[in-house]
Amino acid sequence: MPSFVIVEKCDGCKALDKTACQYICPNDLMVLNKDLMKAYNIEPEMCWECYNCVKICPTQAIEIRGYADFVPLGAQVTPMRSSDSIMWTVKFRNGTLKRFKFPIRTTPEGTAVPDGGWATSDDDLSSPYLFTEPASLKTDDLWKKQ
Ligand code: SF4
Ligand code: SF4
Repeated sequence: MPSFVIVEKCDGCKALDKTACQYICPNDLMVLNKDLMKAYNIEPEMCWECYNCVKICPTQAIEIRGYADFVPLGAQVTPMRSSDSIMWTVKFRNGTLKRFKFPIRTTPEGTAVPDGGWATSDDDLSSPYLFTEPASLKTDDLWKKQ
């Protein structure tokens, strides 16, 4: 089921130029009604159910109902992000709550090295190699061994 906004919880991201859900949606589906200061999904049939908007919303105002192969029908799935982990809270139809916490990074926040430390150049755009190749595959060493 595509994303939908619980209007009572949405504060329109407090009138920022672009709301968090508008910023994150890869399909540009979220729009803001500036009169009501409420966001909504303008084309639900185009929603990938990627959960990006659900994860980024600062007020937990967006929900997606999970499919039955993921949670039983009628369950509510709510993510809560922190700087090093994400907690998924599942509320089942009978009221039972279960929480699952997963790490989301291996380095402290703000310390990731851009490009993973691999050298890049403008020539890479016309190169047939993929990013970090051939160095990461060590194919130069391979040729030397033959
Ligand atoms: S991110 Fe959440 S609070 Fe902000 S506009 Fe979207 S639904 Fe509303
Ligand atoms: S679930 Fe993904 S595709 Fe659907 S509205 Fe949210 S961010 Fe966009």
